[in-house]
This record gives sequence, structure tokens and C-alpha cells, in this order.
Amino acid sequence: MKYKCKKCGFIHEGRLSDGYYCPLCKAGIFDFEEIEVQKEEIDYKRVFVDPDNPALARIEEKCINCGACSNTCINTVNIRYKNPHKPICINCGQCILTCPTGALVPKYDYNKVLELINDKTKTVIVMTSPAVRVSLGDAFSLKPGEFVEEKMITALKKLGFKYVVDTTFGADLTSMEEAAELQERIKNDDVLPMFTSCCPSWVKYAAIYHSDLIPNLSTCKTPIGMQATYLKKFFSKEKRIKSKDIVIVALTPCTAKKYEIENSHCDYVITTSELALAIRENNIDFKNLSDSKFDSLNGSSSGIIYGKSGGVMASALRCLYKLETGSDLTSEKILIKNKSFYKEYNLKINKKQIKTAVVYQMENLEKLLPIKDEFLFIEVMNCNQGCIGGGGQIPMPIVDQKGILNKRSKGLVNQDKDSLVKYPYKNPEIKKAYKTYFSKPLSKKSIELLHTKHKSLAKDFI
Ligand code: SF4
Ligand code: SF4
Repeated sequence: MKYKCKKCGFIHEGRLSDGYYCPLCKAGIFDFEEIEVQKEEIDYKRVFVDPDNPALARIEEKCINCGACSNTCINTVNIRYKNPHKPICINCGQCILTCPTGALVPKYDYNKVLELINDKTKTVIVMTSPAVRVSLGDAFSLKPGEFVEEKMITALKKLGFKYVVDTTFGADLTSMEEAAELQERIKNDDVLPMFTSCCPSWVKYAAIYHSDLIPNLSTCKTPIGMQATYLKKFFSKEKRIKSKDIVIVALTPCTAKKYEIENSHCDYVITTSELALAIRENNIDFKNLSDSKFDSLNGSSSGIIYGKSGGVMASALRCLYKLETGSDLTSEKILIKNKSFYKEYNLKINKKQIKTAVVYQMENLEKLLPIKDEFLFIEVMNCNQGCIGGGGQIPMPIVDQKGILNKRSKGLVNQDKDSLVKYPYKNPEIKKAYKTYFSKPLSKKSIELLHTKHKSLAKDFI
């Protein structure tokens, strides 16, 4: 016997007992109707998880074949079913967050990393992305959105990482380079709008489904891409460590970063949820940890807001404004308009109107594309409200997701409000990086080390 929930489509196999609730939407048994469903149809509902998928995995014994993952998968709104024999995964891990049984998980790499920490010939460095520090506390019954940066650093030190550095430094580098790139494109009447390139799921999506947009993608590497290169090339020298003995780990909210780092200077990605497991398995009492500071490579608060939708745009516009006017951009100069599926960020620079857009989730992006030429710059993030809703974050109760994401967002914005170092170009470590190594944004060295070339993947997938 099979029953379908009339509210959310969940399929229950077997008899329904009194007091049973739909595991997805909490509807009672009277909202279920009996149905005849072929086995193959049920199988087809699950997202396909290739054993070689670098980002996620399924624990078969836990899967109840409910299809929630397919409903979540953004590819269901695009081309996935045009070729069901070759399904496409953009590695975002959003399906993990809606799987009711915990069957879908990030591909676990944390044990490999912990083994390397015990290898005395290696120096293991971890760089931490901003969104992690407003989600990690959820795993230890702290308040949703609580900013736990200092406890997180202590936990990483207790796990044995030699250096704990902040990926907001890489975010600052990205904003410096991206703003200069946008300025050049506008000046030279080059390909516009420019799209951000920090989100590997979006970049993969564009490379598969919209390869005509590749010239529009910023050539900037992502913050972890830039920072891993910096650590390998320069930090290693400053610390007198052979670069072959350095292991670089990115701690991120993002499963897609596990795909992104193939062929990069970053060796491993572990997610927020993997760190929570490592903390528990090593009997670290997270709630009662003392506070610690990053060892080095701090970022500005512009780097912190990278973790939420609109943060990359705000940070890059701060740098562009400085380039064009020599002054600091204050938030009241940006006019933010809420549209039904995106936000406009507009400002005037030297009498020129700079019209930009901020969008998250690919179905919203698809709606924006027909009007893309109205804008000079578009920030695109795959996940709900940006990286705070990443597939590697601590899963949230489905009914509370919006509220929790709002609290995570607030947790990051509060750091930016009263920050002493609000602008990437005022960050002393960024000033030193340009003075010592790169000279200026878009210099020969910057282009060589901080930028990349995007390639179409259309023929590999479609
Ligand atoms: S959401 Fe989880 S339980 Fe449901 S079909 Fe997908 S993997 Fe299985
Ligand atoms: S929005 Fe952030 S967490 Fe989500 S796929 Fe993109 S980079 Fe990863």
C-alpha cells in the first residue's frame, strides 16, 4: 500500500498508523490518499547521486524514497530531465537540507584532514569562510545565527590545525580585483553585464546551460581560490615552510567548493556540518570553549558579509566607488529596491548611474536573464539567501528555515555595522599584499595568480 500526502506530495509506503505525521510537512493521516505508484516512478523521484560526485553522498539505508531531494534540486526546473540518463549535479547540496532522514550528506573529507594533522611532516592550515560562524552554533544548541567565530577558532586549534586564517582576506582580494575589472569593462565598453564568479554552483550552471554568458563572468577566482594561491605562494615563504609540505583546507558552508578545488591550490574542503561532527567525535565541549583569534590574514567586514546574498555586491561597490571618487561609499548612498525575485542595488558615481542586481537560486536567475542588459553588474548565488543557506551548513528544521536564515544574515550584518575595518582597501593585510606581491589590482601578477579562465561544459553534459 502506498499513500501520498496531498499537501506536499510525500509518498509513504505501508499502512498509516494513528498519530502518523508527514515527515516533510507535518500533515496528519487525513491528508494522505491511497495511490498506485510503480516502483520505477518512485526511484525516478530521487536525485541521482553519482558515486564519483565530489560534493555529496547518499546513505542508502536511510533513504525512504520520498522524492524531497528531487523537488529541491534546481535541475528539476531546468534541463535535468532532457537527458535523464545523464543527470547533472551542480554540487550545491541543497538536497541535503531538505532530506528528512539525513540520508544525503556532504562527501566526508574531515577524517582525511584529521589524519594529515597527525602527519608530523605536514603543516595543515585551515581558512574559514564567513557563513560558517553563524551556523556552527546550531549544532551545539546555541541560538540560531549566533556569531561563534572565536569559539570556532579554538575548536580548530584543539583539533590540531597549525594555522587558522580567515577567508575574508580572500574575499577582500576578490572585491579589489572584481571592482577593477568592472571599472575596466565599463571604460572599454567591454562585455556587460559582468556576473560574479564566487559561487561554483552558479559558474558550473552557466558553463553547462548558458555558455554564451561565459564572457560575462568575472575572471576573478573565488575567495578560497585566491587565498589558497596566496597561502601556497607567499604565506609558505613568510613562514619558511616548503610549499609541498603545506596542506590547505577550506572550511566552508558549501559542498560545491569540493568540486571547485579540483585542480586548484586548495587541498581539501570540509563543511560546517563536517566540522560539527569532528568536534563531537573528539569530545570537544564547544559551548564552553574559550575565545581565540585568527593567526593571520584577517579580512575587513566587507569580507564577512560575503556570506549573505548581496554581500559581494556591497563589497565590490565599495571598492569601485573608491576607485572612481577616492572616497568611502556609505550605505545610505546605495538605493536598494526589493523586486519580486531579485534586488536592485543602485548608486550614482560622478553623475553616472550604476544599476546592478542581486539574485539567488537558479530559478530566479532564469527569470532575471531576459532583462539582464538593464544592469552593469549582477551578483548570483545558488543557495537560499546566499552561502548562509549552503548545503554544507547545519541542516535547519524545514518549517523554520526562513527565520533561521534571517538570523544568520543578521549575525553577519551586525559585524559590518560597527566595524573598524569596513573597506577592503583599508585592510592592512590587503595593503601589504598589494605592496609586496601584486602591486595593484589587474597587474600582470594579479592576473596570473588571482584570475582564471572559464570554459563551457555544455558538450560534456548536454
Ligand atoms: S530526500 Fe532523502 S530520503 Fe528522500 S528520496 Fe532523497 S535521499 Fe531519499
Ligand atoms: S551560494 Fe555559497 S554555499 Fe551555495 S553553492 Fe554558491 S558558494 Fe556554495
